[in-house]
Amino acid sequence: MTVWLRGDHLVRRSGPVARRPDEPVLLIESESFARKLPYHPHKLILLFSAMRHFRDELRDDGRPVRYQRAATFEDGLAAHFEATPDDTLVTHRPQTESAQSRLESLVADAGGTVEFVADERFLCSPSQFDDWCSSDGRYRHEDFYRFMRRETGYLMANGDPVGGEWNYDDQNRETPPDGWTPADPPQFEPDDVTRNVVEWVETTFEGSYDERPYGGDWADPDPFRWPVTRRQAVRALDHFVTNRLPEFGPYQDAMLEDEWAMSHSLLSTSLNLGLLGPAEVIERAIAAYEDGDAPLNSVEGFVRQVLGWREFLRHVYRREMPELGEANQLGASEALPDFYWDGDTDMACLSDVVDEVRERGYSHHIERLMILANFGLIYGVEPAQLNRWFHAGYVDAFHWVTTPNVVEMGLYGAGVFATKPYASSANYVDKMSDYCSGCPYYKTKTTGDGACPFNALYWDFLDRNEETLRSNHRMGLMYSHVDNKSDEELTEIRERATEIRDMAAEGEL
Ligand code: SF4
Repeated sequence: MTVWLRGDHLVRRSGPVARRPDEPVLLIESESFARKLPYHPHKLILLFSAMRHFRDELRDDGRPVRYQRAATFEDGLAAHFEATPDDTLVTHRPQTESAQSRLESLVADAGGTVEFVADERFLCSPSQFDDWCSSDGRYRHEDFYRFMRRETGYLMANGDPVGGEWNYDDQNRETPPDGWTPADPPQFEPDDVTRNVVEWVETTFEGSYDERPYGGDWADPDPFRWPVTRRQAVRALDHFVTNRLPEFGPYQDAMLEDEWAMSHSLLSTSLNLGLLGPAEVIERAIAAYEDGDAPLNSVEGFVRQVLGWREFLRHVYRREMPELGEANQLGASEALPDFYWDGDTDMACLSDVVDEVRERGYSHHIERLMILANFGLIYGVEPAQLNRWFHAGYVDAFHWVTTPNVVEMGLYGAGVFATKPYASSANYVDKMSDYCSGCPYYKTKTTGDGACPFNALYWDFLDRNEETLRSNHRMGLMYSHVDNKSDEELTEIRERATEIRDMAAEGEL
């Protein structure tokens, strides 16, 4: 038997590596995987560097490791079974049954067999989640989160939430005062292993995609900043809890042009690769609260991200695929504007956020939801296209993360857990950011020269989707404002929305 670790399962302290200490380990580095999408170079560097470091650490501990570099997974598996005929691989269960069937076929075709074991990168097991939602078959994140708080006992006291409330969102929507600067997040200097990967990624993949992503000007692989080892990931966790967690909560929804990280944890890459486990990051944050080093609103907001949202999305994805991947209940059919790749737009908010993604493969969750996805929603981008863009461009993106977040939460593709579309005009962007003050578009204008594109697109979105959305009781207030618009205003809005789409298609927005 051999433990087969796929690249997003770099876990030593639990899972099959820990449970089968006498068995060798197989890792396969597949070039064809890296060519599936025009991935951000930092995403490829992160994945392959973390895999190679993991290999080296296991070997340093005396564990036999076969590190198979191959053109395809098929080739990598064939080479393994040629060297070890009739071997059985043990690997963590993928997120969906169809992915499991694909892996079984791949291994069978290569001449071996595969056994699946639980994915221990998460706290809630599939059966636990299925039991939880069997009562009415609906997914409500807030209910799930409370269920997980009770199940784990995190931030609970005698059966009640610590502090008396389940969440402190009302304290977590502030914008920072002028002159506020968060603590700089740690940057991890590439060592020789990472530098080799940077060079290999650059020479192997730049210019190799049929498309010309990032405007044909591939995002710069240098400087690369993400943790690629468990030791670095733990340092990142320590740094966050000590230096940024106290201010994470109040400013978690705010956006500043000059502060790409704000006080966010930046731990998603390490969690999603298995370098950190969810329990340890939650427990570190709670310990900071109990020691008086971080306020409850910050700690609870962070715990909700990891214990609630991350676990919830994983199971919704598991249960709703493959339909969720193609879901498009609003019939949105616009092509993704080119500026998502090259940042070439006068809209200050979109230009800045896309530039952040081009530079680091990252932007924080409100920029993802309320700038990038919100614009896609009101513009009418086909959900699968935006999902693909997120998956290619973000260092922490895996299908189980992006599909529910983008297709459902961002673009209201299916209505399986989102109770309404997260559509907003410039009003929200202006309230939560400093973008509008430096933007050539007028945030208060809806139509006419220089009017902010978010405004006409917002009203046009409500207008053109009225048949589907008006009956949603959570949309009542929005439609009461639509009802206050005259026919003449609505005609001008529709014309402006068409003009915006034409400008975007011409690269002139
Ligand atoms: Fe974005 Fe409109 Fe504000 Fe410009 S005015 S930054 S386009 S929301």
